[in-house]
Amino acid sequence: MSQGFLETGIEYLKGVGPQKASLLKEELAIKTFGDLLRYYPFRYVDRTRVHTLLEILEEEGEVQLELRLSRVEEIGGPKAKRLVAMATDGQRSIELVWFKGIKWIKSSLVIGGRYVIFGKPSRFKGKINIVHPEMELLVPEQEFKGKGMQPVYHTTEKLSNRGLNSSGIARLTGELVRNPHFQLQEYLPTAWLQQYNWPEAQEAFQNVHHPSYGSILEKAIQRIKFEEFFFLELHLLRHKLNHKKTYKGFVFSKVGDAFNDFYFKQLPFELTDAQKRVMKEIRADMGSGEHMNRLLQGDVGSGKTIVALLCMLLALDNGFQASLMAPTEILATQHYHTLTELLDGLPYPIRLLTGSTKTAQRNEIHSLLESGELPFLVGTHALLEEKVKFKNLGLAIIDEQHRFGVAQRAALWKKNTLPPHILVMTATPIPRTLAMTVHGDLDVSVIDELPPGRKPIKTVHRFENRRLEVIGFMKQEIAKGRQVYVVFPLIEESETLDYKNLQEGFQHIQDLFPRPEFEVAMVHGQMKPEEKDFEMKRFAEGVCQILVATTVIEVGVNVPNATVMLVESAERFGLSQLHQLRGRVGRGGDQSYCILMTGQKLSNEARTRMETMVTTQDGFRIAEVDLQLRGPGDLLGTQQSGLMDLKLASLTKDAALLHIARDKAEEILRSDEEFEQLEAMKIEYRRRYGKKAIWFRIS
Ligand code: ADP
Ligand code: MG
Repeated sequence: MSQGFLETGIEYLKGVGPQKASLLKEELAIKTFGDLLRYYPFRYVDRTRVHTLLEILEEEGEVQLELRLSRVEEIGGPKAKRLVAMATDGQRSIELVWFKGIKWIKSSLVIGGRYVIFGKPSRFKGKINIVHPEMELLVPEQEFKGKGMQPVYHTTEKLSNRGLNSSGIARLTGELVRNPHFQLQEYLPTAWLQQYNWPEAQEAFQNVHHPSYGSILEKAIQRIKFEEFFFLELHLLRHKLNHKKTYKGFVFSKVGDAFNDFYFKQLPFELTDAQKRVMKEIRADMGSGEHMNRLLQGDVGSGKTIVALLCMLLALDNGFQASLMAPTEILATQHYHTLTELLDGLPYPIRLLTGSTKTAQRNEIHSLLESGELPFLVGTHALLEEKVKFKNLGLAIIDEQHRFGVAQRAALWKKNTLPPHILVMTATPIPRTLAMTVHGDLDVSVIDELPPGRKPIKTVHRFENRRLEVIGFMKQEIAKGRQVYVVFPLIEESETLDYKNLQEGFQHIQDLFPRPEFEVAMVHGQMKPEEKDFEMKRFAEGVCQILVATTVIEVGVNVPNATVMLVESAERFGLSQLHQLRGRVGRGGDQSYCILMTGQKLSNEARTRMETMVTTQDGFRIAEVDLQLRGPGDLLGTQQSGLMDLKLASLTKDAALLHIARDKAEEILRSDEEFEQLEAMKIEYRRRYGKKAIWFRIS
């Protein structure tokens, strides 16, 4: 009957009552016994060990001692009065000091009594003392075995004023977990508990609040973290399975001329093993009859574009059209050029549609799409507009996921009778299990290998005072015939200020690199598309040696002859942005460099970012650090509701447990998706997800 017990209103707990109950509701959202049960301590004070006086010479933190009180005296004048007591183990002794409550404490201390003393030792004039220790008198024959791990809870001022400071809350949780009616029915399979040596639910919840010693606590915490992850993963998987059961997808069963012509005649290199594996995964998905909703992760330069093209060709072979959408005009244009070149000589037309496509061309594209004569379309979000109608869109690819949201994907869905297959490509790689969790509705493929022959990019962090040296280096590289990017931060909120910085920076670079010897181009977000294109072209064709830019060049831009990426005010960029920017160089055969310029003063976080960039080029590693610095919500922009339910478990720190949870959730869905043998688990799932829970069969 434990379920009913946990739903009992908190006012019915001994020591609470109506007033404290309403405070607990207001301050900590604790309404029921169950809420209190899941209000976990945030740390523990270890009082399992009894220290010796010899040890505390070394000890840094709080200690627990068992000593006899030998002497108590009040010393000092009226203004600096204090109470000093000596406590001894027979050989050594320590001073205990009080500045407040002297009278009362003096009268309550028992000279010659045996005490448990707890506090933080400090050194004062060569002697070790403890100021305001906690004292507990032991009865003469009592053997003291330590006081266990003491939980520490977050609380608020209002609650503390009503006696619910941390130890007040500890009293309540103690009351709760020691109540004879508190009985949790186990809802995880016993085999799992045995496999990982985890306690049963009942024991785990008792121990997380009132553990008797550290190793028991560790296991309890692990189990509770695991179940948080497990039910989250179970929910996400059920959600996805439900999607697959609800939506059918177009079946791409054939590999035909389009794919084969390209693959055997036109492909300029051999695919990497990772690219081949990913193609297999995507083909299986698109051929299954289910609707594909897939994320393709791959570091900068890992070769996602060719994978996209191969998928588009497969669509065509099966009688469908395909689209590729990019977040910016520059990127869309570049994809268009890349694909046009790759398809050169083959009879498969491709067109570009952006905000700046002229009306006549736009109309032509519209009608070619509707008649089905045009199989491939590349564009910006302009291709989401309602006027853009396809005869038979079968595959929609989106490049650079973090710029687009779920809403855009939904808009693509409406472009055909069944939703077209969706492939989202992203260069912000995060560990696979994590990706599957934060993008709960997407399947994940990973290109975890770069094409052969890439030279690592040399990355350095330079302070402003070495600018001359940096300029000299740029000149050297330009003398070798190479090109240089100089990137300035431009963040929307302070756009005018940044814009001024950019203009000044541009001016400064022009002064340092004067005509006619040098040509400097500039691109930024406020320019007209034609101007941007013109400048980009001058740089891409090598007319200009230097391109001054904002992060509009962050993603995708491809100029293999550029070997230097100079990032100004690098401390103002996030890690994934810096990584993207660095990815603009190192695209040809020459040694490339990334220089991160910052001011002298850096926050710790900014310093970590610079150090990470200097020490690694692995996008997954960088994404992990980024995740630790910023947290998953921030990194991924959108917040998945389920992630908010994690109380103890951390997506970044408990990756191994997340992994296990994913496996176990998959196991359950394979073996018993209706919970036929798992009634208790079903109840717990329903309790956690309530109305959001997914049921395949109405029961
Ligand atoms: P990203 O994943 O960053 O979009 P791209 O698709 O732009 O990467 O590929 C980066 C570069 O690597 C391109 O010049 C592309 O032609 C090249 N490339 C892709 N795959 C291979 C491969 N298997 N072997 C050699 N070069 C490749
Ligand atoms: Mg790309």
